[in-house]
Amino acid sequence: MSAGLAAGLEPCVHCGFCLQSCPTYLVTADEADSPRGRIVLIRGLAEGRLDPRDPVLASHLDRCLGCRACEPVCPSGVSYGPALERTRHLLTEARPVPLSVRLVHSIMAERGLGRVLFPLARMMRPAARLLAGRSRLGFPLGMLAATRPSGVARGNGGAQQASRAEPAVAATPAGTAVVLRGCVMDGLFSHVHRATERTLRANGFTVVETDAQGCCGALHAHAGQHEEARELARRNVRAFAAADGATVVADAAGCGAMLKEYGRLLEGDPLEQEAHALAARVRDVTEVLAGSGPRRGAPLELRVAYDPPCHLLHAQGVAAEPEALLAAVPGLKRVRHAGAELCCGSAGSYSLAQPALSHEVLGHKIDALVAARPDVVATGNPGCQMQIGAGLLAAGVKIPVVHPVELLDWSYGKAGYYAE
Ligand code: SF4
Ligand code: SF4
Repeated sequence: MSAGLAAGLEPCVHCGFCLQSCPTYLVTADEADSPRGRIVLIRGLAEGRLDPRDPVLASHLDRCLGCRACEPVCPSGVSYGPALERTRHLLTEARPVPLSVRLVHSIMAERGLGRVLFPLARMMRPAARLLAGRSRLGFPLGMLAATRPSGVARGNGGAQQASRAEPAVAATPAGTAVVLRGCVMDGLFSHVHRATERTLRANGFTVVETDAQGCCGALHAHAGQHEEARELARRNVRAFAAADGATVVADAAGCGAMLKEYGRLLEGDPLEQEAHALAARVRDVTEVLAGSGPRRGAPLELRVAYDPPCHLLHAQGVAAEPEALLAAVPGLKRVRHAGAELCCGSAGSYSLAQPALSHEVLGHKIDALVAARPDVVATGNPGCQMQIGAGLLAAGVKIPVVHPVELLDWSYGKAGYYAE
């Protein structure tokens, strides 16, 4: 077995500081479901002492959310995420990725399939909302219902202006940006992309397009489908070369984190240098807007709970910028909820592969949000939006979940920054 499998884990001194940050350990209280325990398992695999076909070993590694909450709290600087990805790849060689997971990943990767299935899914949203619940069918329907654009801005006067396609801008020129469209984001959250583009323009950015971009490959990489992820990365590296010089703006934290790691993903590939160059141009939308100000909008009288996506907070280390974006909306009252920094249990296709543990992890998040009583929850990743939205619907609580940039967009609409 390759010692490279455990690269980045060498500094682990088994201190256990990471245990209380690990959502799966907090639920199961099993050392093998903790970062420290999993590091021991990965080292055992790397040294050939453990067998990747061992189903008990695989179950502990499968139960890892890949949330990377264990990394920023580690005083030794352990780099856990890349080692987990390599290990998952090794495990897929010993036993295949489940059919249901592969099916979902194929829909994300194949733009032709998405073009047929996403419009159907959008049409099903109203029915999905009626049938949403806790059951095996009800929960995925709740996830679909949670992709619907929220009407929460209506009472604040923001929705009408914000729905206009092309804003007129009077701001200092700030540069050129191209939005990463992705798969689920483009199919089910195009309203967030539009909000991203409008707020960028309102802050002086010229927004350009690039054809042929697609799914970032994050779901595939996290599930161990290494070659599929690399192929998707190559497609995006070529596509974004056409918008050379433009900042690549991600409004999905998981996709942004993946693109920032393309250099590592395409290691040894003829496109490795281009992948590093693309990774260096990628920013989350909150980073871009916080870097340009952002200009303040009109007041929105809303109580907001911000739930940071793991792949923004832990994987990208972006914490202050979403706060700066929300601070640009006067009137927003921030409410804090316990465990905001903990994973919601979405984690790509985790809720499909590990529904029981995913729901347990989510349960803590929903309890904390219900106790905080916000008018709206803000989070910057489609998986988190769907997972938390479905959890709230299953709990019978009508709190919408939106992207932070939508709040800024509504505020700008209300301020009259967008033309007729
Ligand atoms: S990963 Fe870091 S925090 Fe966790 S046990 Fe190892 S050294 Fe300690
Ligand atoms: S990535 Fe998340 S779930 Fe996995 S070991 Fe680290 S903290 Fe625990």
